[in-house]
Amino acid sequence: MDYDLPDELKLLQQTIRRVVSEHMIPLEPITPEDEDIPADLRAKLEQMAKDQGLWLLFIPAEYGGAGLSIFGQVIVWEEVSKTVLIPFRKDSIFGPEGCSILFLCNDQQKERYLYPVIRGERVPCFATSEPNAGSDPSAMTTTAVKDGSSYLLNGKKTWVTSGDKADFVQVVAVTDPAKRQRGGITAFLVDMDTPGLTITGKFELMMEDRPNEFTFENCRVPEANILGEIGQGFVISQTWITMGRLRQGAKALGVAQRCLDMAIEYAKHRVTFGKPIATRQAVQFMIADSEVELHAARLMVYHAAQKLDKGEDARHEVYIAKLYANEMVGRVVDRALQIHGAMGLSKELPLERWYRDVRSRRITEGPSEIMRWVIARKLLGRVSD
Ligand SMILES: Cc1cc2nc3c(=O)[nH]c(=O)nc-3n(C[C@H](O)[C@H](O)[C@H](O)COP(=O)(O)OP(=O)(O)OC[C@H]3O[C@@H](n4cnc5c(N)ncnc54)[C@H](O)[C@@H]3O)c2cc1C
Repeated sequence: MDYDLPDELKLLQQTIRRVVSEHMIPLEPITPEDEDIPADLRAKLEQMAKDQGLWLLFIPAEYGGAGLSIFGQVIVWEEVSKTVLIPFRKDSIFGPEGCSILFLCNDQQKERYLYPVIRGERVPCFATSEPNAGSDPSAMTTTAVKDGSSYLLNGKKTWVTSGDKADFVQVVAVTDPAKRQRGGITAFLVDMDTPGLTITGKFELMMEDRPNEFTFENCRVPEANILGEIGQGFVISQTWITMGRLRQGAKALGVAQRCLDMAIEYAKHRVTFGKPIATRQAVQFMIADSEVELHAARLMVYHAAQKLDKGEDARHEVYIAKLYANEMVGRVVDRALQIHGAMGLSKELPLERWYRDVRSRRITEGPSEIMRWVIARKLLGRVSD
């Protein structure tokens, strides 16, 4: 496999790298911890992205976007994650992200959901997890029961990112309890002001996210709001999660690279006992181990992206990349923080924030143990169940 970037992606990489280092990293000290950057600043950065032809980078050409390959999107996610300016789960300054399943909308749904999201007028969220069904979607209890030309949704969804900022939710519910994830789960588009849908909780976490709990009580949703086909909801949510996992892997690369760069720079200049700490083997080994692991993770993420671009089934490669990259970034951030000593703990640097933030990535979009389980199951067959 060719790991060299094609010329156009090399150029894109250099351009985003310059935007991040010149226009975003210098603004880091003003970033509030648990909110997006101030609206006027975001608008200014987005305008700059538009002026430089860097807008709608995650949207296919047929919808007016840049039509980047998945590999191209990975390169953008990696570069933009080198700054802590935009919180991990917020859209970057290059236009809306995470539209993957909205491309399944029919023409009518596109007018109400997809196009307004692309125009930045409406915000979506995605709800599959439930209080007793996180890693295990087969335990899902939210139901959607047909009633005339609509469905009545009942149940609870939890840990919904941006739930209280969203205009509509992409939610999956059981429509056929006998089939469950084998054709018995359906995806719906539900406007947040639909009677019977209530935000019933907000979680305070160790990092910036404040996900919500939703309660559906006889929430009436028209049949026309089924996303894709009836019974296709599990496959749709897997599509969403596969892209989410790859994105997590790519973002881990950017965070790890910036932390490693910071550690190298600091080690060269910080003098103890008369010598820069970079001369100490203990510090050199931390830097070397980080470089080795980052290199391995990058190859895994790039490989998975290239396989997806070829239209191949890359779920196995995405599991591997998601698992390794998110465990790698935890170790790299930890070492960088250690090399910085007390400064590493300081809120003047992004390290302590990343230290808290990256911990979540071994849990969200499938915990590490689930990734190991599905990787082993492919190798061993069902014998491991
Ligand atoms: C910040 C944040 C944002 C999120 N955003 C969303 C969102 O927008 N939409 C959404 O639907 N969900 C969201 N989630 C939920 C997230 O996807 C789930 O937390 C995740 O899937 C794990 O589910 P759980 O927390 O219920 O853990 P559980 O499934 O209860 O698992 C708990 C632990 O048990 C172990 N475990 C579980 N099963 C196995 C097994 N088979 N083998 C070995 N070990 C196992 C693992 O160590 C796991 O960490 C979010 C979560 C967080 C923290």
